[in-house]
Amino acid sequence: MDYPGRFDVIVIGGGHAGTEAALASARMGAKTLLLTHNIETLGQMSCNPAIGGIGKSHLVKEIDALGGAMATATDLGGIQFRVLNSRKGPAVRATRAQADRVLYKAAIRDILENQPNLQIFQQSADDLIMQGDSVRGVVTQTGIRFHATSVILTAGTFLGGLIHIGLQNHSAGRAGDPPSIALADRLRELPLRVDRLKTGTPPRIDARSVDFSVMQEQPGDTPVPVMSFMGKLSQHPRQVSCYITHTNERTHEILRKGLDRSPLYTGVIAGAGPRYCPSVEDKIMRFADKTSHQVFVEPEGLTTHELYPNGISTSLPFDIQLEAVRSIRGFEQAHITRPGYAIEYDFFNPQDLKHSLETKHIQGLFFAGQINGTTGYEEAGAQGLLAGINAANRAFERDAWHPRRDEAYIGVLVDDLITHGTAEPYRMFTSRAEYRLILREDNADLRLTEKGRELGLVDDARWAHFCAKREAIEVEKQRLRDTWVQPGSDVAAVLNAKLKTPLTREYNLADLIKRPELEYLDVASSTGGPVADPQVAEQVEIQFKYAGYIDRQRDEIEQMQRQENTPLPADMDYSAISGLSNELRSKLESVQPASIAQASRIQGMTPAAISLLLVYLKKHR
Ligand code: FAD
Repeated sequence: MDYPGRFDVIVIGGGHAGTEAALASARMGAKTLLLTHNIETLGQMSCNPAIGGIGKSHLVKEIDALGGAMATATDLGGIQFRVLNSRKGPAVRATRAQADRVLYKAAIRDILENQPNLQIFQQSADDLIMQGDSVRGVVTQTGIRFHATSVILTAGTFLGGLIHIGLQNHSAGRAGDPPSIALADRLRELPLRVDRLKTGTPPRIDARSVDFSVMQEQPGDTPVPVMSFMGKLSQHPRQVSCYITHTNERTHEILRKGLDRSPLYTGVIAGAGPRYCPSVEDKIMRFADKTSHQVFVEPEGLTTHELYPNGISTSLPFDIQLEAVRSIRGFEQAHITRPGYAIEYDFFNPQDLKHSLETKHIQGLFFAGQINGTTGYEEAGAQGLLAGINAANRAFERDAWHPRRDEAYIGVLVDDLITHGTAEPYRMFTSRAEYRLILREDNADLRLTEKGRELGLVDDARWAHFCAKREAIEVEKQRLRDTWVQPGSDVAAVLNAKLKTPLTREYNLADLIKRPELEYLDVASSTGGPVADPQVAEQVEIQFKYAGYIDRQRDEIEQMQRQENTPLPADMDYSAISGLSNELRSKLESVQPASIAQASRIQGMTPAAISLLLVYLKKHR
């Protein structure tokens, strides 16, 4: 049957990409349908119960700055919060939260169910409705035909999903969920490059069978951080500790014994796995000289005994898993509640996408999340948000939007995927961004919320909160610039107590904050007046202390911007450019860069080749 009426946007999949996509599209006013296998698994964390971390928290805060749900759900479901790299510079500081799976999922579902313009429907999407080279809707497993202008596919690890435990394997989307086979077959008929990747997860352990007294306790930070710019401490549930233990030589011996039944080492698994999240058998083979690896013992929630032993992801047979786990200190009596496993799944070459995440060959079809070759909830959520924005833009016949590399990690993520493609699951790191000092997690709102408001993503409450914060930062910065300290004064005496060399001339407080011995609080409180609240204080301190470096990066961005503003036509004939090497020509043809700047980021691209492109463009304009 044809479902009555028509949607602007249909999102297939209720994981991390799908939920952010559906919410973004609906927030922009598009009539949106979220079509997913199972309403109970909306926002489900397939693997580790944690959000954020290095590079990833930057994405979470950017999603938040654009009105998304991930950070708020983390504040509502987070049972341990830490700021990683807190002693390093602000560019690489990262908030990480352990999440209670049940609370996180419930928060996401609550946000989805209360979002105007959004409807949810539970059923498998098995086919796409096509008209020529445009998508027109989705057909479900029982033949219901939903019509829409844009369709976003966010099927995660479900397309052709195959779970491996030892040499046994079976079809599944993840443990306990059905795979998506009919849709995978249908997609393979389309002109899209498809390949296989794999990822894995550790066995889960019953906390009642674990001896924590021999492990190192790792409590959360005090004061407890929040994830969302709108977050409040009072939203957090009870906070708990994690623990650390280690594998040992005996563990490694047991694991080695199982390698002849490893799907990875016997060649049963063809897809590449995540380099930065390797299985424990991979670790002992790749780092053969290491006699021990850390295992972070993380609670799965407040209402369950299950633990997530982070660091021992494995697809070895169950008997080996059990023996290896029980060889680890504190796990001698461990009961495994769920075996570890690996999963292979279809992913699509992201070079077949535009920066809007619309496929180049099928109009109106957008891809987001794990199916684009990424790994991680945050990477998925960020892409979902962007696909949601552009699917709605398309339905409203508005121009597509994506942030540039100097505006957001979301921009870095999408540009990396589209320019370079990926042969292994891609995860975000701060080292992937060339303008790290500008793209900090603390200023994601200052970078993006205004744009989010313009796009229709940011509600009145967030907008009012943001405007008040932005104004308070400017007022406080001006106060520090206008407050002068005379040598020999009482204020100078307060500051001299912290300084290596006493003040010998007049300074304003904005200059003094740049001194390494002084922090915002020292300077701002020296006059005895009120100080700004922590979010404002953090910005004032960073903006003054790092002003020189920030200005230098802004100059670099301006230079790059000129190249970004030199577009390359989609139908550019690279074979007509003489002097280009065959290798670069074929890379340019494959990537079809949208601008000179994107072309310059292609691996192996040379300044000489860029000059050839510029000369050709000048001649043929
Ligand atoms: P998912 O979260 O997988 O969501 C996909 C959604 O689509 C599901 O709701 C599903 O029901 C729905 N769906 C699929 N097909 C259809 C259909 N045809 N019709 C309707 N609904 C459909 N990430 C890490 O960062 N580190 C790790 O170590 C790690 N290990 C992992 C191990 C395993 C075993 C798995 C399964 C995942 C692992 N991940 C890991 C990846 C992480 O879970 C994903 O990156 C993230 O969940 C991707 O989000 P997504 O929204 O793209 O897809």
